[in-house]
Amino acid sequence: MRVVELFQSKQGEGLWTGAQSTFVRTGGCNLRCCFCDTTYASWQCEEGETLTVEEIVERVENYGNRHVVLTGGEPMLYSELIPLTEELAKREFRITIETAGTLDLPVKCDLISISPKLSNSTPVGAPESVVRLHETNRNRIEVVRKLISRYPYQLKFVVDLPEDLLEVEEYLQRLGEFDKRLVLLMPMATDVRAMRLKAEWITAYAQARGYRYCPRMQLEWYGDRRGT
Ligand code: SF4
Repeated sequence: MRVVELFQSKQGEGLWTGAQSTFVRTGGCNLRCCFCDTTYASWQCEEGETLTVEEIVERVENYGNRHVVLTGGEPMLYSELIPLTEELAKREFRITIETAGTLDLPVKCDLISISPKLSNSTPVGAPESVVRLHETNRNRIEVVRKLISRYPYQLKFVVDLPEDLLEVEEYLQRLGEFDKRLVLLMPMATDVRAMRLKAEWITAYAQARGYRYCPRMQLEWYGDRRGT
C-alpha cells in the first residue's frame, strides 16, 4: 500500500488525545474536502512509497509505541489494511483507524475514528466533475451505521459556522442509535487563533447536548506542521 509518511507523535485529536503513537499515513482519498489539511496525502497525492504489510509492521515495531494510528488520506481504500491490522493486533498493538466513513472493510481495530463530511467540505470552485464525485461519495450513512455497530468508535464532525450544528443534528437523527458522549465537535481551523475563536460557542453547544468539544491539540503543541 502507498504510505506517504510514517512517524511518531502524540495523538492530538479525540478520545485518545495525548497517547504516544506511531502514525501510518496512507496516500489517496476518495473525497476532495475544501478544508483538507493533508492534501499531500489525499487528492494531490504524488508522494510516498509502496510498502508491504511486513515492511510497515517492521517500521511500526521499530518505533516501540504501543498505539498505532492508521490515517490518510483514506486508509480504507486499501484492502491490505485487513492483513495489516490483523498483524498489528496479533502483536498486541492498540489500533486507531481514522476514516471519513465512506468505505467498509473487515479490519481489526480498537477505535474507529469516523469523520463524516458535512456540506461545508464541498470543494466549491473545483471542476464540476470533482464536486459531483465528492458529493456522491461523502455521505455513506449506511457504512457509518455498520462501522459503529462493530467497533468502539468516535464520531468527529468538523464545524466551521454555527449553522453547521443544525446539519450535525440532522445527520445524527438519520443515523439512529449512537452514544452522545462519542460525538466530538471539532473546529475547522489550521491555526490556534482560529481554533480558540470557535472553541467557545462549540464547547457551549457540545456541553448542552451531551457531546464533546474536540480541540486539535497538535496545533497547540506543534503548529500546522507535517509529521505531527
Ligand atoms: S476525507 Fe480527509 S483526507 Fe480526504 S480530502 Fe477530506 S479531509 Fe482530506
